Amino acid sequence: MIQKPRGTMDILPDEVGVWQYIEKKAREVAAKYGYSEIRFPTFESTELFARGVGDTTDVVQKEMYTFTDREDRSYTLRPEGTACVVRSLIENGKCSDTMPLKLYYIINCFRYEKPQAGRSREFFQFGTEMFGAAAPQADATVIALADTFIREIGIKDVKLHINSIGCPNCRPKYHEALVKYFSDNSDKLCDTCKERLKTNPLRILDCKCPECKAIASDAPKTIDNLCVECQTHFDGLKLVLDNSGIEYEIDPHIVRGLDYYTRTVFEFICDSIGAQSTICGGGRYDGLMKQLGGPELPGIGFAMGITRLILAMKASGVDIGADDAPSVYIAPMGTAATVRAFELVEKFREAGIYAETDLVSRSLKAQMKYADKKSARYTVIIGDSELESGKAQLKDMRNSTQSEIELDKIVEHVLAAIKE
Ligand code: ATP
Ligand code: MG
Repeated sequence: MIQKPRGTMDILPDEVGVWQYIEKKAREVAAKYGYSEIRFPTFESTELFARGVGDTTDVVQKEMYTFTDREDRSYTLRPEGTACVVRSLIENGKCSDTMPLKLYYIINCFRYEKPQAGRSREFFQFGTEMFGAAAPQADATVIALADTFIREIGIKDVKLHINSIGCPNCRPKYHEALVKYFSDNSDKLCDTCKERLKTNPLRILDCKCPECKAIASDAPKTIDNLCVECQTHFDGLKLVLDNSGIEYEIDPHIVRGLDYYTRTVFEFICDSIGAQSTICGGGRYDGLMKQLGGPELPGIGFAMGITRLILAMKASGVDIGADDAPSVYIAPMGTAATVRAFELVEKFREAGIYAETDLVSRSLKAQMKYADKKSARYTVIIGDSELESGKAQLKDMRNSTQSEIELDKIVEHVLAAIKE
C-alpha cells in the first residue's frame, strides 16, 4: 500500500467541515479589516527564503524542502508566506499603490520538522500582511484582527503575549550585551546554540532545549535595551491596546523564529493544546521589503497554524454542527420513474434545495434506509401509478405525516414547507 509522506495529512469529508468553517471566518474577518486575498506560487526560488527568512534561521538551515528542477535551478516549497508576498508585490509593481496595502492568504506550507501534535511537515496557515504603515496603531490593528478572529471561531483560554525586539539602531548594543551574557554561560549551551552564539545570538532565545531555555530566561531583555524611538513605539502600542480593552502580557522572551522581525512581536498562546501552544505568531518587519530589493516600506503581519486552531477549538468545546442533511430524497421504482426522479432532483437543486435520488439501483427498502441514514427531511416514492396520476405522497420524516402533492408543484411545495 502506498502511504502519504510522513508529516502530511488527508483531510477527509467528515473532518473538512471545520476547515471550511475556519477559512470562511478568516475571509469574513479579513474583509472587515479591509484585507484582500493574495495567492502566490507553492514554490519559489530558494534564494527568496535564504534572504527573506534569514540564512541563520532553523527554517532555512534545517527545515526547507529544496529541490533542483530539470534545468538545475534551485527551488523551495514555501515554508511561510511573508517573503512570497513581498516578492510578489515588488515583482508586480504594487509598492507604489495607495498605502496601507492589506493582504491575507490561506496557504499550505512545508517544513521538514519532527511531526507531532500541532506540528507537521505540510501545514496550513491563515496569514495577513500590512505594508506602508509604521504607526503603533497599525500594530494594534493587526493584533485586533487576530484577536477578533480567534474569538469568533470560539477559542477560549488564549493569551496574547507581546514584546518589542528593537530595530537596527538599538540592536548592536543589545547584541553586545547578549553575546557577553551567553559567552559567560557558553559551556551550558547546546551545540547548535554554541554555533548560534557566533552567527546569530538572538536565535538562542528561541531554542527549544530545556538547558538553553533555562539560561535564556535570565538573559538581557530587548525591552530593557530599546532606543527612544522603539520605546515610544512600544508605549504607543500598549496605550492603544489598553484603551480598547485588548488584554496582553509583556513577554520579554518572545523573539520569533524568523530573522526579519523588528520592534513589535507577538504570539497568541493556548495552553490547553499541549506543547505546540502558539496558535498565532506575528510581528513587524520594517526591513524586509528593502532587503528583498523593494523600496523601504514597513510591514507587519501574522500567521496562524490552522491545525493548532482546530486543536484549540476542540479544547474550547466548539461545535460547528453536522453537515447538511438532504431536504428531499426521491425514491423511484422502475425505469420511467428513475428518469423522472432525475429531472425532479435537478429542479430542486436549481431552486437551491439539496435533493438526492438513487444512483446505485437500490431496492425500495434499501433506498428508504439510505434516506434515513442521510437524515433526509422529506421522502417521495414515485412509481408507475404516481407517474400516471401526476401525484405522489410527500412524507415528512420528522413527524411521519404524509400529504398528497402534484409532482409538477413539488419544488414549490417543499420550498414553502422548509421555510416554515
Ligand atoms: P514554532 O515555534 O511552533 O515552531 P514558528 O515560530 O516556527 O513556530 P512561524 O514561522 O511564526 O512559527 O509560523 C506561524 C504559525 O504557524 C505558528 O505559530 C504555528 O501556529 C504555525 N506553524 C509553524 N510551523 C508549523 C508546523 N510545522 N506545523 C503546524 N503548524 C505550524
Ligand atoms: Mg518552527
